[in-house]
Amino acid sequence: MDIKRGFVATVGNTPLIRLNRLSEATGCEILGKAEFMNPGGSVKDRAALYMIQDAEERDLLQPGGTVVEGTAGNTGIGLAHICNAKGYKCLIIIPDTQSQEKIDLLRTLGAEVRTVPAVPYKDPNNYVKLSGRIAAELPNAVWANQFDNLANRRAHYETTGPEIWQQTDGKVDAWVAATGTGGTYAGVALFLKERNPTIQCVVADPMGSALYSYVKTGEIKLEGSSITEGIGNSRITANMVGVPTDDAIQVDDPTCVHVLYQLLYDEGLFMGGSVGINVAAALTLAKEMGPGHRIVTVLCDGGSRYQSRLYNQDWMAAKGLLPDILRR
Ligand code: PMP
Repeated sequence: MDIKRGFVATVGNTPLIRLNRLSEATGCEILGKAEFMNPGGSVKDRAALYMIQDAEERDLLQPGGTVVEGTAGNTGIGLAHICNAKGYKCLIIIPDTQSQEKIDLLRTLGAEVRTVPAVPYKDPNNYVKLSGRIAAELPNAVWANQFDNLANRRAHYETTGPEIWQQTDGKVDAWVAATGTGGTYAGVALFLKERNPTIQCVVADPMGSALYSYVKTGEIKLEGSSITEGIGNSRITANMVGVPTDDAIQVDDPTCVHVLYQLLYDEGLFMGGSVGINVAAALTLAKEMGPGHRIVTVLCDGGSRYQSRLYNQDWMAAKGLLPDILRR
């Protein structure tokens, strides 16, 4: 018998998928950790589960209590599923720049959703800071605080990293991933480097994010912007502190979109925007390292969360981002 005890028992243990065409084209083996196959549909299910379990262990969350979080959507979706399964309420603060699909799904799941204007982190009304204040004022509530809560990266140190190690028999040459909170990148990088310090750990970064300049020069520089959601940051979060990083690769939107449609047409994978950044960076790394290397990245979430944007021709045309390989 193989029976999972509810939603939480089905988080993690995702397949590692060989991207066949892209591997053949580069002579490297490009592998994607299929996090879109988590029960809540994204990589953030793992962090959501660890943060709730951590709050329970610390007696911060009582039955009927509320989990509050500021999120680009996926963490909120993971939290909302787990709150339903465990008997908690869920209150989500989300910037109004995020896709309608994610906001609609959060409401369908029964979370209370407050959309707020997207303002920089230094503004006291930034969605992350707002969520912390709301949690502090609400009785029997806990703030998940994914950006600076180390239970987030611990989820990946204890599950995603070991799964990748086991699935590859420890034969990994490089790990590359974009960061939002940094939990996924950091947890896996910490685990892999401990097992084998020669594994290259590389941050992928969209335009407009500080990680690339920070890794390259130690300075925070914010230039440009990106249509991707859930990744990029203007600061170094607690989850990213002390994480071994060999290099960073910056990916622009046209390159990201081209790769997303290659994944769709050539690999049969319908993916969210951050996956375009991750796989584009993996392809750059494959060129830099040369044939014969095994490069692992993350397939963070699926494309249906962005149907009205990345996969809507009018929306993409208005952004000047219609891909050259579009099949009409
Ligand atoms: N991709 C997507 C679509 C996301 O929602 C997120 C999380 N916001 C990430 C990637 C980055 O994950 P992490 O927070 O672990 O850095």
